[in-house]
Amino acid sequence: MQHEKESSITTGTREFFHVHTSRCKHASSDTDDDYTEAALKLGASKIVFTDHCPFPENPFTNRMDMEQLPEYIHSLKLLKTKYEKFIDVQIGLETEFLPSFRTYYEKLVEMGGLDLLILGQHFYEVEPDVYSFSMEDKHNEYIGLAKATLQGIKSGYFSVVAHSDRIFRRKTGWDETMAGISKEIIDEAKKVGIPLEINASSIRRRLYKQEFWDLVPPEVKIIKGIDAHSVAELNEGFTKCHYCTSFRK
Ligand SMILES: [Zn+2]
Ligand SMILES: [Zn+2]
Repeated sequence: MQHEKESSITTGTREFFHVHTSRCKHASSDTDDDYTEAALKLGASKIVFTDHCPFPENPFTNRMDMEQLPEYIHSLKLLKTKYEKFIDVQIGLETEFLPSFRTYYEKLVEMGGLDLLILGQHFYEVEPDVYSFSMEDKHNEYIGLAKATLQGIKSGYFSVVAHSDRIFRRKTGWDETMAGISKEIIDEAKKVGIPLEINASSIRRRLYKQEFWDLVPPEVKIIKGIDAHSVAELNEGFTKCHYCTSFRK
């Protein structure tokens, strides 16, 4: 799955990468169809849905329930067919890499129906059944997030590293440790040939680190992600992404 899809992803400005849906419980009520119609109106040739990935028995919040996954895939498959002649609708999921769920990722990859998984490391597994969101002191969270991101890249399950610089979201400023960690991620991405996503929502929410992107060499592919949780964000992200000078053309 991954290798086929990697080659089909480009950084074109008319491709809407990283779109969520109402199922994730923190997005607008806009429908899958609304997003696709909006992308078409903006002249897009591709829209890549990557809603937050559910996990067995629903241990995490802010995402669809496990039971909704078949309906999500079914709904997007219908759109794939409906818009076939006009726009390429891709079906993906954005997920954290959690080592205890390796078998589950394998199942997602092998079951068919999904075009890609993207790595969005919002938290990490400290030990089985213990996650970083329950840590009292999150000061050094970025170190665990970086380790999990590296493991995720190496796992081979993912086609893109979403908001690659967001691991530093609780850090102000920039130092040598952060630069070293960034280089490790960038080098691994280069080795594996996985694109890094520069994320419109990170920019909007000031979670973006230019220092990270300054370290990315030209041979590492950068993909622009809109990270839209509403049609309004899709439209706004389009305008900003299109003109943002930080984005490599
Ligand atoms: Zn979200
Ligand atoms: Zn994310």
